[in-house]
Amino acid sequence: MVSDWPKAAVVGWPAKHSLSPLIMKTWLDETGQPGDYAIIECEPDAFESAVRERFHAGLVGVNVTVPHKETALKVADEASDAARAIGAANVLVWRQNRILADNTDHVGIARALESDSGSGPAVLIGAGGAARAALYNLKDQRRDIRILNRTRSRAEALAAEFGVSAHIHTLDDAQAYQDASLVINATSLGMTGQPPLTADLSGTAEDALVFDMVYAPLKTGLLAEAERLGRRTADGLVMLVGQARPAFGRFFGASAPDHDGVRQGLLAELERRA
Ligand code: NAP
Repeated sequence: MVSDWPKAAVVGWPAKHSLSPLIMKTWLDETGQPGDYAIIECEPDAFESAVRERFHAGLVGVNVTVPHKETALKVADEASDAARAIGAANVLVWRQNRILADNTDHVGIARALESDSGSGPAVLIGAGGAARAALYNLKDQRRDIRILNRTRSRAEALAAEFGVSAHIHTLDDAQAYQDASLVINATSLGMTGQPPLTADLSGTAEDALVFDMVYAPLKTGLLAEAERLGRRTADGLVMLVGQARPAFGRFFGASAPDHDGVRQGLLAELERRA
């Protein structure tokens, strides 16, 4: 019976272009796990009532996307350490009439940074929600952290909140990249329809890893420049799939397949949309 299947959804405003249904449905098909996954679009004011109503009606959990991630943490009855530290939740699950919040963006980031040495200067571009998740991953590493952001005060506040003694730079400061072994773009710069990100990667370490969270386009200007210089790269789809994996487990009680099948589907979908 379809009605007995666990059901989950992505909640956002807007959400109709979310890639989460494609990811979750691919994994449901691949694992043979019964389940369904929907899209819920709701305006910011309606978030809590929309989610609670659906939980009471049988929804097992939701992925939360823009602009609800901070509200999601506030409405939760319990939150993971990561969600509290990052100050936002991208996953809510319903357990025994309680809302549990988690933030799995840092898991997706860890996946993208798997080949990072963990040492050498790290450049973090951005100071918004995605940058917070990245700094959560970097904060305990013994390395020089450099944060570049349009709004300097936001970068300073971010570093202070995580207790990181980071160097703060403007977006156009080429010096910030000198000898860097890791560069992360956590802004929307370089995304289709947004201004480009101008970064001088020529001074980065030869074996530097350059990770761009943007996935539309998949090969951003930053990644193209990194490739041209022979640097290693990780793209936004690695993070997107990486953050979805633990959520799938929590919603449907099965492990997501650890192969690249879902990436192929996402690449085809991005190509279709381009
Ligand atoms: P956010 O909280 O709104 O932060 C946006 C960041 O981008 C801020 O640092 C902001 O600087 C900067 N920015 C925006 N427009 C700018 C402009 N015109 N010039 C200079 N800086 C600009 O957004 P977010 O949630 O952190 O998301 C950031 C990016 O990460 C987005 O591209 C998003 O798609 C991507 N992301 C990807 C994944 C994934 O799974 N791959 C997951 C989450 C997010 P100010 O502080 O100066 O405003």
